[in-house]
Amino acid sequence: MFLTTKALVLREVKYKEADKILTVLTASDGKLTVKARGAARKGCKYGAAAQQLCYSDVTLFHNAGKWSLNEAETVEQFLPLRSDLSLLALGSYFAELLEAVSDEDDPNPALLQLGLNSLYALSRGLYPPERVKAVFELRLTCLSGFQPQLAACPACGRADAAELRFSLGGGTIHCPGCPPGAPGRSVPISPDTLAAMRYVVKAEPRRIFSFQLPPEAERQLGEIAEGYVQAQLDRGFGALDYWKNVQCAMSNVQ
Ligand SMILES: [Zn+2]
Repeated sequence: MFLTTKALVLREVKYKEADKILTVLTASDGKLTVKARGAARKGCKYGAAAQQLCYSDVTLFHNAGKWSLNEAETVEQFLPLRSDLSLLALGSYFAELLEAVSDEDDPNPALLQLGLNSLYALSRGLYPPERVKAVFELRLTCLSGFQPQLAACPACGRADAAELRFSLGGGTIHCPGCPPGAPGRSVPISPDTLAAMRYVVKAEPRRIFSFQLPPEAERQLGEIAEGYVQAQLDRGFGALDYWKNVQCAMSNVQ
């Protein structure tokens, strides 16, 4: 059986002499594991498409429970990411997150679109990488069933207390005196940061990055988004650690 679809490569692992095993995210069939025979060989017709973070029109072949790559034509390679170590590391983190929340036979086109929009914003330098990262993390939680509840404190109903906190475990705002509603850490959230989070959760897919935020609130948004996605998915991410190491090494050089 053949399947023609569009696919973003989330992960590539070299296999045997010149093959690759790809983890791809498709709009039609969710996450798939695909063997790309000869993809690591020079001159392979789909060599470019079989790289991590490449988005392509693909034809896949299904046989005996396994998928293999038959044809591929690249649609977007996000080339600027490939010449910037820090951006590539961040893009890999996005791929790791997409893989973590995707399933086979459970298509989530909005999730793929979020990944593509975020990689595009990152590769074209449309917004600072930290902004793209925070928005991506936050929207990813929304699209995978962990949308934070930001309207009011669930315990007392207040929406405008001066010193609200955000529960990373529960995904709710709450007043300092009210219980967080779920176990785990809760952190201070400023009115500016809360407004930005409310915007990101509700905004049209193409508008998610477009908002103004003072630097202090931008930092806080970054910490909350990262802490929230880790608390909800209950795991760390190797590519995130790597991105932080690259950031650190680059700031030492400058
Ligand atoms: Zn309260």
